[in-house]
Order: sequence, then structure tokens, then C-alpha cells
Amino acid sequence: MSFDLLILGAGPAGLCLARALSGRGLSIGVVEQQPLEALSAPAFDGREIALTQRSAETLRRLGLWERIGQLDDAALSPLRDAQVMNGPFSPFALRIGHELTRREELGWLVSNHLIRRAAFDEAQASGRAHGDLHWFTGQPVAQVRVHPNGARIQLADGSQQQARLLIAADSRFSSTRRAVGIGASQHDFGRTMLVCQMTHAIDHAHVAWEWFGHGQTLALLPMNDDPATGAHRASAVLTLPHQEIEALLALDDAAFGEDVTRRFEQRLGAMHLASTRHAYPLVGVYPHQLVAERLACVGDAAVGMHPVTAHGFNFGLLGVETLSGLLLDAHARGQDIGAPALLARYQRQHRLATRPLYELTRLIAELYTAESPPARLLREAALRVAERVKPFKRLVAGSLAGT
Ligand SMILES: Cc1cc2nc3c(=O)[nH]c(=O)nc-3n(C[C@H](O)[C@H](O)[C@H](O)COP(=O)(O)OP(=O)(O)OC[C@H]3O[C@@H](n4cnc5c(N)ncnc54)[C@H](O)[C@@H]3O)c2cc1C
Repeated sequence: MSFDLLILGAGPAGLCLARALSGRGLSIGVVEQQPLEALSAPAFDGREIALTQRSAETLRRLGLWERIGQLDDAALSPLRDAQVMNGPFSPFALRIGHELTRREELGWLVSNHLIRRAAFDEAQASGRAHGDLHWFTGQPVAQVRVHPNGARIQLADGSQQQARLLIAADSRFSSTRRAVGIGASQHDFGRTMLVCQMTHAIDHAHVAWEWFGHGQTLALLPMNDDPATGAHRASAVLTLPHQEIEALLALDDAAFGEDVTRRFEQRLGAMHLASTRHAYPLVGVYPHQLVAERLACVGDAAVGMHPVTAHGFNFGLLGVETLSGLLLDAHARGQDIGAPALLARYQRQHRLATRPLYELTRLIAELYTAESPPARLLREAALRVAERVKPFKRLVAGSLAGT
């Protein structure tokens, strides 16, 4: 078959792009290696995604926000304030409060599997209504070919599809990107991140924590209370060398709860495991190009962030906004949606919006996991200076709240 666009990868970014483009006169194919059943009921993967107010707006516009609320009425957790701490037993914290913005909260926290589910439901509903989305699921893309006038892919079963434009949305290790010859800078942080939900005795007051302890980095993402039991609930995020994460994964639930309680120095009282545990190796990826002949990268395929500044999917949505705006505009004017000038414009805009924070995040992640005494002193000093510099705090708060 022949399409205007083929979106390769139906993760949250690919699905949001499909939703954003559906209903506007374009024919779109969506290719995903997972089977349709996995897309329609994605499994819990431990990730609670911190969303900026701008991303929340995009999700509202795409119809996902309301759907997420319908899937689980405790799903949208406000992130009121944030604090950053350094070292064990340190009473000092850099505090970023919502009062620095004009909003009641800095952002929101939503489970990744609910975003995926809502994005799939919305894309499918729109595709049914407009007859413009075609799904090829349950098999990976086996071969990619681009040429000046279009592109062709071959699926694992040997079938072929064509399009005027390919979208690589197939993760930070995108094989589509590699197939057309785009290399990438990769940074392996040598750490693994363990994420899970915990209940705890003391209320978190919807404050997110980032805690650079000695030998470990902890984060606490405040969630709404468990609707079934009323227990206070948060997502715990532990960043450690892989062998230590393996040891934590091997603990039984009770021992794991005790270990996490101790790591958080009882600041939230006793903590208990409330979900499955999931581990992610930390590798940042920034491609040398975000576009090629008849191809554009979105989502993690365009920018693979370290999660410490919580911007991966926020950047994914920004890319969806930028690219869909350019494509719909060109289509409405009867222009070629795969024209080199359009793709170059997308690359310029998305690089400008993402590269500075990608590099800053890399530096922060390195400084705040370094264990040498000078590095510890430097980060303590940096936090104390940042606490006093109101414009800096307002900038951080504003970038989250979108004000
Ligand atoms: C622990 C953790 C915490 C995070 N926290 C935050 C946060 O707080 N805020 C934030 O904004 N972001 C956060 N992120 C980042 C966020 O999860 C990602 O940016 C987002 O999930 C990327 O979505 P994607 O659709 O680009 O890629 P993916 O989710 O990787 O989806 C890619 C899709 O492509 C499919 N695919 C791959 N190869 C092929 C192939 N050859 N053929 C067909 N299909 C293929 C895959 O099956 C998959 O469905 C976090 C990430 C992690 C790991």
C-alpha cells in the first residue's frame, strides 16, 4: 500500500503524532512490533511521567487528558512543588515552589502505561472516524529504503509499504535512524534506574524530591493517595550501579520496603512496595541529524534524555507539536510534506528547543553522581547559590509550569 506517511513505532510519541495528524486529509500507516492486544492494554512499566503544563495542554488538545481521567480517576497527580537535596542527613533543600508561577501546581504526574493506553484509544477512535489510519502490528520493520521521491519499508513477513515520508518513532536506539545512516552521540551513565510505587506513612504534600545522596540518587514523585486504601502513595526512583539494583530486585517485598525506608531516612515514615519493580539502564542519545531524505525522527528517536530532569516525553510532545504543525501547514497549501526545506526547518526548531537542556542534564547527572569530596562541595555550594537566586528559581519553575 502507499501512504502519505508511515509512522514506525507506536510508543507514546508515535501514537500522539498519529492522533495529531488524523482527520486532516492525510493517509497514515502505523507500524509496531508489539501485537495489537499489547497496544490496547499496555502493561504497567513503573514509569510515572512528570509532565509540564505545556505538555498537559497538548494532551488536552489531543483528547488524551480526559481519557486518562476516565481510565483511572486518581491518575492525574498534581506536582505542586519540588525540592533538591544533597548528601545524607542534610536539612538543606533547594525549593522550587508553585508560587513562583501563576499556577496552582508546577506540573503533573501520570503513569506511562496510561498515557500509552489513552494515546492508542484516541488514535484508534480518530482513525475509525476518518478512515485514515492503518495499523501494521505484531512484526518489526525489517528493511528501510529512502529515495528522493519517497520511501519503502519491508516488514518481517516480507510485505512492503510505501510513503512520501517516514517517521522514526522507534525508541532512542532507533533501527530506522541507523538504516538511513544517521549516527548518534551516546552517553552511558553507568547507572541503572529502579522505579516502583510505594505507600508511606507520612503525607508528601505533593512535593517532588530529587536527592543526591552519597553513592545513590533518590527521587520521590508524589502521586494521589491510593483510591482503594487511602494510603499515601509515591513513585520511588533509585539510581545505582547495576549490581546494586540487581540486589534490590532480588529482595522480597518486605525487605525491599525496609531498605527503601532506610534509604529515605524515614522522612516519609515506613514505606511499603505497592507495585512491580522495573529497572532501566541509563543511556543518553542525541542523533547527529534529526532528519534525512524523506525521514524525520520524533520522540526518543530524536532526543533520548536522561530522566533526571524529567523531559524525555515532554520533548517528545514538543516534537509532535512542531512536526505536525509544519506537515499540516504544507498539506493544506498543497506542498510536498517530505520536502527537504520542511524537514530542515523541523530539525532546526527541535534542536534549538532540546539540545541545551540535553547537554545541561548530562552535566547535572555527572556532577550529582560524582563521589569525590570536591564534587560534593561543589554541588552543595551550587544548591545554596541557586536557592538565593530568585530569577533562576523562577526560570526553572516557569519552564515547568509553562509561564
Ligand atoms: C525510568 C524513566 C522515567 C522517565 N520519566 C520521565 C518523566 O518524568 N518525564 C518525561 O517527560 N519523560 C520521562 N521519561 C522518558 C519517556 O518515558 C520517554 O521519552 C518516552 O516513553 C519515549 O516514547 P517514544 O514513543 O519516543 O519511545 P518508546 O516508548 O521507546 O516507544 C518506541 C516504540 O517503537 C517500537 N519499535 C521499536 N523498534 C521497532 C521496529 N523495528 N519495528 C516496529 N516497532 C518498533 C517499540 O516496540 C515501542 O513501542 C522517563 C523514562 C524512563 C526510562
